[in-house]
Amino acid sequence: MYNKTINKLITSINNIYKKSKREEITIGVARKYGLSLAFKQFQKDLNRLSQKEANKLSKEMQNHYIDKYVSTTGARRPLKKAKEKVMYPWSGMNFSQRIAKNSQQINQHVIQNVEKVLRKGGNKPQVIALLLDIADKFTERHNTLIRTELWHMDLLGELDGMKQNKVKYVKYISQGDHRVCPECISLEEYNEGIYLIEEAPILPRHPRCRCHLIPYEK
Ligand SMILES: [Zn+2]
Repeated sequence: MYNKTINKLITSINNIYKKSKREEITIGVARKYGLSLAFKQFQKDLNRLSQKEANKLSKEMQNHYIDKYVSTTGARRPLKKAKEKVMYPWSGMNFSQRIAKNSQQINQHVIQNVEKVLRKGGNKPQVIALLLDIADKFTERHNTLIRTELWHMDLLGELDGMKQNKVKYVKYISQGDHRVCPECISLEEYNEGIYLIEEAPILPRHPRCRCHLIPYEK
């Protein structure tokens, strides 16, 4: 998702090199030909992009929650509830804060690393390669964020549906293979994985966690 914004920054940096009429420039020369301005525009673009992505994701998250809730209960679509649920900071932050944090980080990362390359006398291809690399890395991070947030809404919709169905206890189920992490194993082993539904661990525990909860009768 960051590729377009990074490409715009690359265009600005290309122009800086063009104006300087050199293949290698110092940070001072880069600033003289508009590096600070290019960074400022980059941050502005990032903010706009984050807002747009957050709005889009919010709607997808609501739909995931609603679909699971409805398929678990057969009840009507709980739109108002879904809107509230997506905003909840379920592991310290909500989706919107996480997107904003990633944008902050890519911004810092870009400024620090471009300046570092320029200080070492790096040439234009090096700066561009660096930026493309950062775009890929952060786009992958963003995709993981989306997957995790949507998966959380699937599981939450299901859990709230079970609550609506008056389920009292749930059982924690991991995939049971060698890829399950120690935290998830311990949650599955604790009290044989049986929890009061109100006290059940929040899922997923981490990106790519495949654990889920099923109704349990004592
Ligand atoms: Zn897990």
